[in-house]
Amino acid sequence: MLDLEVLHRPTTPEEAVRLYDATPGNGLYVAGGTVLVPAGSSRLDYLIDLSHVGLDYIRREGDGPAPDLAIGAGVRIADLARNAEVAAVASGIVRDAASAVATHTVRNRATVGGNIVVSHYPTDLPAALLVLDARLEVLNGEGTREIALTEFYGNRREVHEKGDLIIEVRIPGEGRGFAAAFEKLGRLKVDIAIVNCAAALRIDGDAIAEARVAVNGTGRPPSRLREVESFLAGKPVAVSTFEEAGRVASGSVEPRSNHRASADYRRKMVGVLTKRTLLKAAGIDDR
Ligand SMILES: Cc1cc2nc3c(=O)[nH]c(=O)nc-3n(C[C@H](O)[C@H](O)[C@H](O)COP(=O)(O)OP(=O)(O)OC[C@H]3O[C@@H](n4cnc5c(N)ncnc54)[C@H](O)[C@@H]3O)c2cc1C
Repeated sequence: MLDLEVLHRPTTPEEAVRLYDATPGNGLYVAGGTVLVPAGSSRLDYLIDLSHVGLDYIRREGDGPAPDLAIGAGVRIADLARNAEVAAVASGIVRDAASAVATHTVRNRATVGGNIVVSHYPTDLPAALLVLDARLEVLNGEGTREIALTEFYGNRREVHEKGDLIIEVRIPGEGRGFAAAFEKLGRLKVDIAIVNCAAALRIDGDAIAEARVAVNGTGRPPSRLREVESFLAGKPVAVSTFEEAGRVASGSVEPRSNHRASADYRRKMVGVLTKRTLLKAAGIDDR
């Protein structure tokens, strides 16, 4: 149950950050509130509502055939899932990950920024964004800075400071042309993932020029599977390659058990989803 003293409603990101720094007590930003409100906390003195700070844009940045895609942190997951610019990037992998989030009701409230922050749940956007080498733009009282998403998850204590406001996710244009796929395994389709996986391939002729694979839901921060990526580089695009990549993936993770699944099951499923996403990205139907 939230027992708040103060609810701030800033109209710009800068004002939100100023309020965070100036308000005494324990406070947090709140976006869609789908995690924060049900979880509640009697230790919160104030919330800063991000609904009106103008971070609900999706736009191309830059000219040329491969512009970056800038996604405001306040974009609702439902809007991300139905945006044509998002669908045009890397086989629509971010659209597919967004469409896999919970139910319509949750997607209509939940935001991109919240999804990135609460990755201690097996949220669906991080793996898809990681294989696109996404970057975060972050604002605090000292100004804005960029953080690679791989750094944000790999080294969060070092790179994320108290009061940091994520204002934007930037998908670099060079990832646009990758053939990509996202898969989620949950108990039911609308359930939060047991594990999820994203793969992106740059194919040159019959060979893999570059492969990127990422997972979330192992009980560790979302991460790229570098061993699998090294294994795949230069290999032929073939079912046997992707089967072996699945085995490498299983061996490269150290999942944790919880009430949703055992570590052993998760390890196996990381292998299955790795193979499945790679096949799908390469356009191979092996059924
Ligand atoms: C029933 C249910 C089912 C769910 N199923 C799924 C699922 O299938 N897949 C999935 O991915 N997620 C799922 N979720 C989790 C959640 O809904 C999403 O991850 C959502 O995107 C969180 O965003 P939010 O805007 O609601 O976050 P909030 O609840 O508003 O905030 C969560 C945290 O993020 C911080 N935060 C929010 N925005 C910012 C920002 N811009 N900068 C800095 N900090 C920020 C807040 O301070 C807070 O600590 C589910 C949640 C529920 C309740």
